[in-house]
Amino acid sequence: MKYSFSSRIEAVKSSAVRDILKLTQGQGIISFAGGLPAEEWFPIDALKSASEEVFRMGTQAFQYGLTEGATSLRERIAKRMLTYRNIPVELDEIMITSGSQQSLDLFAKAMIDPGDVVLVENPTYLACLQVLQLYGANVIGVESDDYGMIPEDIEAKLKQYKPKFVYVVPTFSNPTGRVWSVERREVLLRLCTEHEVLILEDDPYGELRFSNNKVPNIAALEGNVANRIVAYTSTFSKTVTPGMRTGWIIADKRVIQRLARGKQSSDLHSSVFDQLILSELLESATFSLDDHIHKLSLVYKERMETMATHLQQDEPWREAVWKMPQGGMFFWVELPEGLDAEALLKCAVGKGVAFVPGTPFFAGAAKRNTMRLNYSFAEPEVIHTGMDRLGEAVGEFLGRHV
Ligand code: PMP
Repeated sequence: MKYSFSSRIEAVKSSAVRDILKLTQGQGIISFAGGLPAEEWFPIDALKSASEEVFRMGTQAFQYGLTEGATSLRERIAKRMLTYRNIPVELDEIMITSGSQQSLDLFAKAMIDPGDVVLVENPTYLACLQVLQLYGANVIGVESDDYGMIPEDIEAKLKQYKPKFVYVVPTFSNPTGRVWSVERREVLLRLCTEHEVLILEDDPYGELRFSNNKVPNIAALEGNVANRIVAYTSTFSKTVTPGMRTGWIIADKRVIQRLARGKQSSDLHSSVFDQLILSELLESATFSLDDHIHKLSLVYKERMETMATHLQQDEPWREAVWKMPQGGMFFWVELPEGLDAEALLKCAVGKGVAFVPGTPFFAGAAKRNTMRLNYSFAEPEVIHTGMDRLGEAVGEFLGRHV
């Protein structure tokens, strides 16, 4: 049988991270590749109690539900959004999705006709690049530095391309771990407001902060306006568990209506059972999500510092350029010019450690000497061993190739 697949799906490359994850499963390979949370910190007991509550509700959790999501969960997320993020939300401005990945997919589905331009940071979240590619977007990278997108370049590209939207991960970004300055957030909002271009703010990591230094979300800077230009998405994947596939998106209600139409053709609605468990968890008398997130952030900070010690002190990293993350799950490392991180990966896997090369995170020309290292998944002792192996690979590689 010769299968005749759509040109749309044939044009999409498989995710480099997912391919690497496949490669590393069950092989004794230490993985700094995926964006996996620490599974020993999943709040299993609290989830068990919450699910028992849901079973006590009777059949409700097992019937079809609303496309927009379970009302109680939407209300509770809306309350959290206001309290913790200063983002005001009405019930018809929020929809539950099967993870923020689905928010990205539905937003692109609702907004993009083939050939439409989307502006992104460079580098940016590679699975969003995949989504944009699937819908035939013309993805243009905006020059970015440690503080966010460069204002002159945003302005020039808004004028030149009249994009459908601008996609950003401004807080503890994937892959760079960067946090945009408040000024850069304000500039993006002002320019997009002037040009009437939507912003999609993707914020899965914002709560995993290593200090008290809280930067406002772009959606919070916009506040309670009649015609929101900011759509905001977040998720329980990084703070509770990714396996429950539950996230949310906040946008103008006309946008939400279109996203709901798109969701009906994808999965009708997200799992009611999972939504109700999470809804119970948010109001639990015995479990505090805030305390949990606080603990998790301390755990991740320790792991980040463990990895940082190697990057700072081990000889092979001497010429590498990187910044200490202030939150989130990733280091972004720039190796000496000329070193190809994809070739390094093969050598590293041979030594029993994996990471993600930077190349697939770029829209357009890539910096091939970059890599993303995840520190949230492995425990500190494992990080030590993994960084010893990786250091050896980098050392050999530098000796051989530079
Ligand atoms: N956006 C970004 C920036 C991410 O890093 C991820 C997870 N890797 C997602 C969206 C998707 O997360 P989920 O679908 O699990 O909510």
